[in-house]
Amino acid sequence: MRAASVSIAKRSTGLIDIEQPKITAPDQVLLRVLKVGICGTDREICAFEYGDPPAGSDYLVLGHECLGEVVDVGSGVKAFKPGDLAVPMVRRPCEHPECVACRAGRSDFCYTGDFTERGIKQRHGFLTEMVVDSEQYMNLLPASLREVGVLTEPLTIAAKALEQIKAVQTRLPWTAKHHALVLGAGPVGLLGAMTLVNAGFDVTVYSKTPEPNAAADIAKALGAKYISSEQTPVEQMAAQVGNIDVVYEAVGASQFAFDVLRVLGTNGLFVFTGVPGHHAPISVDTDTIMRNIVLKNQAVVGSVNAGKIAFEEAIQGLTEFYRQWPAAVSGLITGRFPIERFNEPIENHGGIKNVIELG
Ligand code: BGC
Repeated sequence: MRAASVSIAKRSTGLIDIEQPKITAPDQVLLRVLKVGICGTDREICAFEYGDPPAGSDYLVLGHECLGEVVDVGSGVKAFKPGDLAVPMVRRPCEHPECVACRAGRSDFCYTGDFTERGIKQRHGFLTEMVVDSEQYMNLLPASLREVGVLTEPLTIAAKALEQIKAVQTRLPWTAKHHALVLGAGPVGLLGAMTLVNAGFDVTVYSKTPEPNAAADIAKALGAKYISSEQTPVEQMAAQVGNIDVVYEAVGASQFAFDVLRVLGTNGLFVFTGVPGHHAPISVDTDTIMRNIVLKNQAVVGSVNAGKIAFEEAIQGLTEFYRQWPAAVSGLITGRFPIERFNEPIENHGGIKNVIELG
């Protein structure tokens, strides 16, 4: 069967022919891959800046944002049957007995760093025709999400961030309407905006491109505000928003993020989800930032990989968002490509979310 792969050693990408996986244990589920989303992590892997093939393999099959249809199940599988829609998780636990996070089923908080990730780190991904994995790493989707269920994995980033926001802010009285600022209007940003609007926040999306643009239209369709950073500098934006209670960062641009960290509000929480490339050091106003963190009781949290709970919350969220804002949710998918053309959205990123369609 066909698979989109990258060879880090040969510094090349291409379609290869690999053997079709089979069910070899009672807890396994065989999926026919329907759609795979492309994100910045795939672009970094294909630029040979990130990612590792499995031990003994000279290539890595790409793809970690997957929607599939169950084709067959092992004799011990309880929650899935052929015809069901499923989204597999990305991360698998490390094997160290002392890693309490992995041993507790929370590899998203792995202590050792020896976790693996499908399509990213030492495990083949889903950008191929069929995949097999254990039932415990699969999540059942309602049939209503067939068209947009591929957005589940990027939405887990926002679902996990919301878990972090709720956990951290139990430290203070947290009752009135809160202002959340979303940095970036890509898929992770806009899915974050949906999550935060749905959770009752007053949301502003702050992103580079001036209006009119498709992402700003989506933000406004949710009832969020949109401000262009090209037209409105950080201080002016902060004056418009009011006390910034939460920043949900989804751009991966450190200069921009740290500029906004300076205007985080009293008792505010800044959640980083972007993974910047390695660029030359930049200068940051550390005195202002540190004074604010201390004097204004601010908190800074990093989060990206999602555990089982965030996957379940994302599926519930996507079902709700698609019912509430069907055009905005489908409008996130702006490009569809067959597997033969998987390189195109990786090399020339345009639109919001690009998806490879296999079925
Ligand atoms: C994925 C995460 C993963 C991270 C780092 C992101 O694109 O959504 O699951 O942990 O990349 O590898």
